[in-house]
Amino acid sequence: MKDYYATLGVSREASADEIKKAYRKLALKYHPDKNPGNKEAEEQFKAINEAYAVLSDPQKRANYDRYGTEAPQMGGFTGGFGDVFDLFEQVFGFRSPSGPGRAPRGEDLEATVELELIDVLHGAEKELTYQRLVPCESCSGQGGKRTSCRNCNGRGVVEQVQRTIFGSMMTQSTCGVCRGRGYVVSETCHTCKGQGRLRREEKIKVQMPAGIDENQLLRVSGMGNLGPGGPGDLFVRPRIAPHPHLEREGPHLIYRLKLGLAQAALGAKVEVPGLEGDIPLEIPPGTGHGEVFEMEGQGLPYAGRRQRGSLQVITEITVPRNLSEKARKLLREFAQETGEEVAPEGFWDKLKRVFKG
Ligand SMILES: [Zn+2]
Ligand SMILES: [Zn+2]
Repeated sequence: MKDYYATLGVSREASADEIKKAYRKLALKYHPDKNPGNKEAEEQFKAINEAYAVLSDPQKRANYDRYGTEAPQMGGFTGGFGDVFDLFEQVFGFRSPSGPGRAPRGEDLEATVELELIDVLHGAEKELTYQRLVPCESCSGQGGKRTSCRNCNGRGVVEQVQRTIFGSMMTQSTCGVCRGRGYVVSETCHTCKGQGRLRREEKIKVQMPAGIDENQLLRVSGMGNLGPGGPGDLFVRPRIAPHPHLEREGPHLIYRLKLGLAQAALGAKVEVPGLEGDIPLEIPPGTGHGEVFEMEGQGLPYAGRRQRGSLQVITEITVPRNLSEKARKLLREFAQETGEEVAPEGFWDKLKRVFKG
């Protein structure tokens, strides 16, 4: 595991200001412009940028402190050199001259990770396989052999003389042959069919934090498609499989407890299937339909916190059907005792016969 604090030479309790100060000092010292051709300085520059990318972001720093994992799994910093200069620019307010220009970044991608409800409780590391576009090696991402555009002499723009009522005017427009690129591709690359990029399967591990929600996307920097200006990001969408007994409502879980008539009236000791095993629950006598028993701390964690929501047990009183002769007789006695008026014996049988004709 990388020690980001050591990389920046600060203590684990360092304030945001101290971290920024340390970064500024080191970034200037190891900047590639100051150390041309020095591979060691370049690696050091990357390392301090990675450390700063994590420690300067309160969320990422908290994750790092808590899980101790490296940034990539936590949606942290995995980018190539492009991101390093972005960060430098953010802090110093100017772009390093040797940094990349404004070439387009690769596209962002989205991938889905399947989770069980229990993964939401503890957090889980999941392996994810997806495809992204990377530069074609056969043509170094150029799509084929490039030759300077003859229409515009490689300038990407052409000048035209227009005759107007004011006389002749020079106008400049994008070259229609090379569409402003200044080159045309001759001998299209066979490997990538001239696209310059190829699909490659990637396998990465993603740390899904406890309490994660389905509409919460995790960003993995630099793992999207690769473009000339650097990589795009990968957004990981969790999909949580339905649980056989429990429903989720944010940090709370809901269990629908079926109770018989007698259980509801006389009370009962039941077991509620919680996420981590059965939990005993005492149902007091005279419990009604739709009553809620709240078991605190038996739900899911609130995002980024240790605290857990509750397991809410909602009663559903089931009315018995297909009664035995004896049960029917007892219920009649029960009705007599409580004074409930019920249909006389055989009433429904007669009625059924009437409808059948
Ligand atoms: Zn041209
Ligand atoms: Zn190619």
